Amino acid sequence: SDTISKIAAGEIIEEPASVVKELLENSIDAQSSQIQIEILNSPASYIRITDNGIGMSQEEIELSVLRHATSKIQSIEDLNNSKTLGFRGEALPSINQVSELEIISRSCDQDYAIRLVYQFGKKVLREKIGAPIGTTIKVKNIFENLPVRKKFLKASKIQWANIVEVVEKISLGVPGVSISLSKDHRQVFKSSNSQNHENHLYSILGKQIVQHLQAISFKSSSYKIQGFFGDNQLYRSSRIHEYIYINGRYVRNLQISKAIEGVYRSKIPLQKFPIFVLYIEIDPQLVDVNIHPKKHEVKLSNENKLIPILQELLSQSFSGSKI
Ligand code: ADP
Ligand code: MG
Repeated sequence: SDTISKIAAGEIIEEPASVVKELLENSIDAQSSQIQIEILNSPASYIRITDNGIGMSQEEIELSVLRHATSKIQSIEDLNNSKTLGFRGEALPSINQVSELEIISRSCDQDYAIRLVYQFGKKVLREKIGAPIGTTIKVKNIFENLPVRKKFLKASKIQWANIVEVVEKISLGVPGVSISLSKDHRQVFKSSNSQNHENHLYSILGKQIVQHLQAISFKSSSYKIQGFFGDNQLYRSSRIHEYIYINGRYVRNLQISKAIEGVYRSKIPLQKFPIFVLYIEIDPQLVDVNIHPKKHEVKLSNENKLIPILQELLSQSFSGSKI
């Protein structure tokens, strides 16, 4: 269809962390309040994610692994109104092609779940089973059918570190959703389900960081901004702890980053990078998230209005109080 041809296809699954990212975003889009991620052995060998979201109907579950079968947009116009994290309908089909995929899902209007098992794109089992409302997805033996790609996977340790990073980044963007991550049955991460940003940040970044953050907020007819800015004792040698969320989606936006760094550097003569978490709520029409299939780099149509507001807020926060 037209929608399909207008959406640039992209390589989505590079490594286990990309699988975790896509599955986690799907669980969030499904309005889950609790999401558990479990890794067994190495990340490429076993990932399971369980959510308590809206689940899928029998029909939706079969559709979910077909390319561009997103339930989230109907047309290219909807792309610009998208408040969901996913919208391309590429993730599950891509994962399905390169792994052993199992989907168990039950929607609220069904009293049983459907379990589907695929092996590298081929359906091998479909059955009804008992399960709570929500979705469980298992992804096993990633790239087992593609020896060359498997060979180029980074060491398990690096894959794991990338998963932790993805889970932290996404979790910070969704107050009210509790996300846990465990490895070989040991829990290594759990965010609170608090709707309150401060509590949520605390559960993810810890006291060591949060005690150095100053909270500022701003609201107008076009934006709602909540920022948590590190003081002059918190610097990093890269931008890793510059967290920017637009409508709950983690993004990179160099214009915003540089503008904020500029304010810091005007106060503190250091060439390093600050720590901050910035939540921007904005009319989705003003956000272009379709630059890259990985959806990280985001453009705003009115950046030049937003940036002075951010700079002004941050300048004020340097004389404000800590949270
Ligand atoms: P997208 O997220 O871009 O729509 P995906 O390939 O990631 O595409 O998922 C395809 C579809 O499968 C989604 O549109 C959604 O309808 C359904 N889906 C996937 N994961 C879940 C989940 N955890 N809960 C409910 N529905 C899901
Ligand atoms: Mg998705």
